[in-house]
Amino acid sequence: MAGDRRGVANAASVLRTVLDHGPVARSGISPLCGLSPAAVSRQTTGLLRAGLLRELPDPAGRAGSGRPRIPLDLHTGAVGGPVAAGLHIGVPASTFSLVDLRGQVLARRAFPHRDPRDPDLSGLIAAELGRFLREYVTGSRPLLGVGAALGGWVRPDAGTVVRHPALGWRQRPLATELSRALGLPVHVDNHARAVAGAEILFGHPAARRSLVHLFIGNVVDAAFGIEGTVHQGPGSAAGDVAHLPVPGSGAVCACGRTGCLQAAASDTALGAEAVRRGIVPDPSVPLLVDAAAAGDPRADRLLRERARDVGRAAALLLDVFNPAVMVVTELSGVLHEGYLDEIRAAAVERSHVCDDPERIIAPHAGPAVLPQAAATVLLDPLFRDPAGLTWECEITSGGYGLG
Ligand SMILES: [Zn+2]
Repeated sequence: MAGDRRGVANAASVLRTVLDHGPVARSGISPLCGLSPAAVSRQTTGLLRAGLLRELPDPAGRAGSGRPRIPLDLHTGAVGGPVAAGLHIGVPASTFSLVDLRGQVLARRAFPHRDPRDPDLSGLIAAELGRFLREYVTGSRPLLGVGAALGGWVRPDAGTVVRHPALGWRQRPLATELSRALGLPVHVDNHARAVAGAEILFGHPAARRSLVHLFIGNVVDAAFGIEGTVHQGPGSAAGDVAHLPVPGSGAVCACGRTGCLQAAASDTALGAEAVRRGIVPDPSVPLLVDAAAAGDPRADRLLRERARDVGRAAALLLDVFNPAVMVVTELSGVLHEGYLDEIRAAAVERSHVCDDPERIIAPHAGPAVLPQAAATVLLDPLFRDPAGLTWECEITSGGYGLG
């Protein structure tokens, strides 16, 4: 068993070294990951056979230069390169995506929810996701499975949604439901942790040392990671910051108190306030962002007010964790650097430990943050145990183009 564990760790180490440095020759992998050339050779053979790596043409075109010099890279080729499906379940809509091994979003589609509290919402989502996959996954690329990300309290180990008040879900076995409907392996996680995982795998190098991620959507969540691992905690309950106090806010929260982050700064609260002020006809943050971009000063002012609330909450998290980077996913800040700067300024003004605004960043994937992060829920276990997931999908993914 110890040998098996070492084999898993070695395969993961080689795969991540190629993720970070590829294309890279076999002979170059050994000094980068600290494994012996023989161990690297054994693992690259297995990863090539599993279709996760591929050999690229030797750039120097040297005949007979030998296998050790042939560059290897993750298999992202249009023929044979594996893909992961992503499913982000929001409140007003879900988003489907297809993502390659480098986290590149190859296709995406929104699926608006007619009624977010429909008891069969997960069945409707699964049916529509199945149509999306049949359309986009052709026989030429293996589909590894589905990563699903959503707000609320999610247990990845059990595949369940413990609690998601906005959808009315409690103890929902989401992974099993989706897996049965689609005939594919499905992994689930909270979306704040999913974004943190995507930053660690594909984003800012400092995110692997330590990061805090603050997610501002219709729900408000947080996640933190250290030494390349996102913290779950007992029952995977970490990350509920909905009732974190925002200094200076008087917004009334459903919990009965005032000034909770969710009441002050969620998309739901922001949309309602935008309607109340007569800026937009519907409580939609994208509409509000569009209005600001079109030059409406009231929209711009409201977005800056929210950004400062987010920044003040970020300051509390910065002081508690002192992370190498703080990632903030918030629509206006993702789309426009000016609102991110507003978040940075408010955070640095309030924080007792952080005087460097550059530590606060938007997610590296920009507007593709959620499509990428959802698929990362599946890709992250792949990069930890490359053989585990490919074995799992060999037995289940016949219907979507795997030969
Ligand atoms: Zn509250």
